[in-house]
Amino acid sequence: MSTTPTAQKVAVVTGAARGIGAAVAARLAQDGLAVAVFDLDEAACATTVETVEKAGGRILAVGCDVSDSEQVEAGVARVTAELGAPTVLVNNAGIIRDNLVFRMTDQDFDSVIGVHLRGAFLMARAVQRHQTAAGWGRTVNLSSSAALGNRGQSNYSSAKAGLMGLTKTLAIELGPFGVTVNCVAPGFIATDMTEATAERMGITFEEFTERYVKTIPVRRRGRPEDIAQAVSFFVREEAGFVNGQVLFVAGGPKG
Ligand code: NAP
Repeated sequence: MSTTPTAQKVAVVTGAARGIGAAVAARLAQDGLAVAVFDLDEAACATTVETVEKAGGRILAVGCDVSDSEQVEAGVARVTAELGAPTVLVNNAGIIRDNLVFRMTDQDFDSVIGVHLRGAFLMARAVQRHQTAAGWGRTVNLSSSAALGNRGQSNYSSAKAGLMGLTKTLAIELGPFGVTVNCVAPGFIATDMTEATAERMGITFEEFTERYVKTIPVRRRGRPEDIAQAVSFFVREEAGFVNGQVLFVAGGPKG
């Protein structure tokens, strides 16, 4: 760890029990930040906690549903008390409830918008207090190449496109306070989420990968670490003039 505990920046990463969030938490800890990992179930963060602690990092697991404003406020207050005021936020928590529009229920639509878009808004609103007070901050929102449209994902693509708008607006509002807000939009990354997609399609994950990889110019699927790298860049001190941007990390051009 390159910084002393008092000077150490504190990051919150949501949905960090597994997948991309767990990789981002590990990467930010490696970059020298203390990390609070939010997930629905605090105990589910045990592996992420162990990974970071083994590498000598400071980490706190917090049980929090990001779509619930009271839980978000309580979670951020706990981080402030136990780790320090958070000035870095990574909005990564997510769910999928795929269906073609004629079969999609109100609940499927609302719950996906609730976690991705409302959750990111609630978290950003709670953390910006600490960012503006510090005169420095970094927020990174996880969008998706599905924001450009994806069959069976009218809920998810709407949420992910909404996150791009939220990113640009927060970048304008918070920029004057030294806070940048950017967006990483992954393509196909191997996680439980994409395994669940393959299962729903009735094919194995390997079959799903084989089909998908043919359409990716670099001819491989992404790894959570590919996304963690991009998030790490936006969080860096030197990235302070990069604000309101969307970076597709998809093995090829998007957008
Ligand atoms: P994942 O493996 O399904 O992990 C998502 C995590 O978010 C899980 O630990 C989940 O907890 C947690 N979560 C769900 N609802 C939550 C809530 N209300 N409050 C707090 N935590 C919650 O997903 P992933 O593939 O790593 O994806 C991470 C992010 O990247 C998501 O925003 C996703 O949309 C985006 N993304 C992924 C891909 C991809 O190919 N994988 C592509 C583009 C974008 P539970 O386990 O309890 O549900």
